[in-house]
Amino acid sequence: MNIFRDRETGWIEVICGPMYSGKTEELIRRLRRAQIARQKVAIFKPKIDTRYSDDHIVSHSEQQLPSVSVETVDEIRRHSAEAEVIGIDEAQFFGMELIQLCQNLADKGKRVIVAGLDLDYRGEPFEPIPQLLAVGEYITKTLAICMVCGNPASRTQRLTKDAARVVVGGQDIYEARCRKCFVPPV
Ligand code: ADP
Ligand code: ZN
Repeated sequence: MNIFRDRETGWIEVICGPMYSGKTEELIRRLRRAQIARQKVAIFKPKIDTRYSDDHIVSHSEQQLPSVSVETVDEIRRHSAEAEVIGIDEAQFFGMELIQLCQNLADKGKRVIVAGLDLDYRGEPFEPIPQLLAVGEYITKTLAICMVCGNPASRTQRLTKDAARVVVGGQDIYEARCRKCFVPPV
């Protein structure tokens, strides 16, 4: 991490991993520190994700930070003009347009911190996270604990037979699994 912040230069940070790996916790930690430093912080999450709160990003460990729920990438753009630091949670739900937005914001000198699932329920790369990993400057991959064997978990097991890529849910529908214990859907 660049602690010697050059105010002219922006960059992209990506926090990725499976569900329950601490992506939101880590995002909240970084954004809180920016707020303590009195930087202007804007925090977004997709409207689709209303599991725990409409106006906060909330971690599975019940930490939270006020956020703006948005439907489109354009809404993030409009609400980011004044911000120095921009946090985006559940970034996998924003689609490919998010890549150009993050690039534009970083080019304008902003610090952009994006958290999202790198793999979908089949264990396949979940765009736009792979692309953001390529264009971003700082990458953090978080791991959870495998609910079958206790090893570090990199995958999210869907426990239902639903075949839609986007099914919003919690511990009733998803659990963290390691490579060995993950069973891709047939
Ligand atoms: P993510 O944003 O990656 O889904 P969160 O930051 O919301 O992760 O939640 C991380 C927290 O989830 C952990 O600190 C822990 O309290 C809890 N948790 C629940 N299940 C697991 C698991 N299988 N492995 C690790 N942490 C878990
Ligand atoms: Zn396992």
